[in-house]
Amino acid sequence: MAPSATPDGATERIVIENCAIATVDAHDTEYASGHVVVAGNRIESVGAGDAPAGLENVVRRIDGTGHLVTPGLVNTHHHFYQWITRGLATDHNLFNWLVALYPTWARIDEPMVRAAAQGSLAMMARGGVTTAMDHHYVFPEGSGDLSGAIIGAARDMGVRFTLARGSMDRSEKDGGLPPDFAVETLDGALAATEETVKRHHDASFDAMTQVAVAPCSPFSVSTDLLRRGAELARSLGVRLHTHGSETVEEEQFCKELFGMGPTDYFESTGWLGEDVWMAHCVHMNDSDIEAFARTRTGVAHCPSSNARLAAGIARVPDMLKAGVPVGLGVDGTASNESGELHTELRNALLINRLGAHREAALNARQALRLGTHGGAQVLGRAEAIGSLEPGKLADLVLWKLDTLAHSSIADPVVALVFGAAAPVTLSLVNGRPVVEDSRLTTVDEDAVARSTRDEARRLARIAAQA
Ligand SMILES: [Zn+2]
Repeated sequence: MAPSATPDGATERIVIENCAIATVDAHDTEYASGHVVVAGNRIESVGAGDAPAGLENVVRRIDGTGHLVTPGLVNTHHHFYQWITRGLATDHNLFNWLVALYPTWARIDEPMVRAAAQGSLAMMARGGVTTAMDHHYVFPEGSGDLSGAIIGAARDMGVRFTLARGSMDRSEKDGGLPPDFAVETLDGALAATEETVKRHHDASFDAMTQVAVAPCSPFSVSTDLLRRGAELARSLGVRLHTHGSETVEEEQFCKELFGMGPTDYFESTGWLGEDVWMAHCVHMNDSDIEAFARTRTGVAHCPSSNARLAAGIARVPDMLKAGVPVGLGVDGTASNESGELHTELRNALLINRLGAHREAALNARQALRLGTHGGAQVLGRAEAIGSLEPGKLADLVLWKLDTLAHSSIADPVVALVFGAAAPVTLSLVNGRPVVEDSRLTTVDEDAVARSTRDEARRLARIAAQA
């Protein structure tokens, strides 16, 4: 049965009319005033003017006057657990920030991770994210079923979700940064990752939960974990994710330890390919970008986090020109305290204009594409989500652009990207409302705020006593 059906089994329809529409399809088709018809969990039609006459089983008809409809936003890089360690080590670069925070992160447990996931998901969903991801790689001994807690939180929130099951096997005793008890063994990490994929990954077109294999980064995992992780992912038919080329220090680390830069190191371990996406990719030379384009390796661009940690400006215009799939990421909220993706559209546009291409770096439509279709490509789901086209899944957002913040900007896409963070009147995921009038419909936002505050304080107490 379709997710939304009347008692006699007929598919229910939601009709949205009188709104501007940016489909983000291959031709960037837009309508100044048009309609979207949702049938069950799919988009049935999109076009100019009113919806077709005579539609049956219309359970809701929305007047979208003053609104822009876009595909739901897709987040491609995050660490949910960091929601309870925001606002710490605020003036550090990546390495010093990691050194400052690992002793605290090493103390997380299942209730903390559940609350942090709820906080991260709530903040993103409220701002128009319909597909979230979490790269979780801290699994301290005896900390409980962290993957299950995260996936449960996403299911309760009602958003589409990819868990990138992370891992680390290079701790202090091997020259890495995390404490020894906070990392897994090589075999333990691979076995737990395989078990998570088998238990939770859904390969279907309209899957709400997918799992990727995601060793943390070149400097926190062994070469064997990278190599065998890639083999595991391919044997299971799931995607691969990690951090790549984030900082100058990482480049130096790879050259000293492996005699080559990060991209060549990744290629030598099986980590370039159309089933791989990497966060950051800030320090890429021309041949690195060419290798990503040749292999269709994806990039999660995280402009605010890169600025927060003074990592640098990724060469996004060059990547797009070369044909590299690029999506947007919030990154963990210990390095991007806002935790919002819709503001990253603006930040991606502005920060890239500080780079080599200046005013030609990115325009509003390219920024919107990064946050929607680009993200869907990077997560391997572009056939199902990321644009508004008949047959695709009904993940869409109705942005309110007729208030003080935006009403004097004529171009709705420019208003959304250049303007203040726009309120969300409605967000649908799989045809179901997750946000109505800027409030989450699936969870109690105030209760989430309280529980995340309590868990953040509990973690700080435990870390201080350690
Ligand atoms: Zn990250």
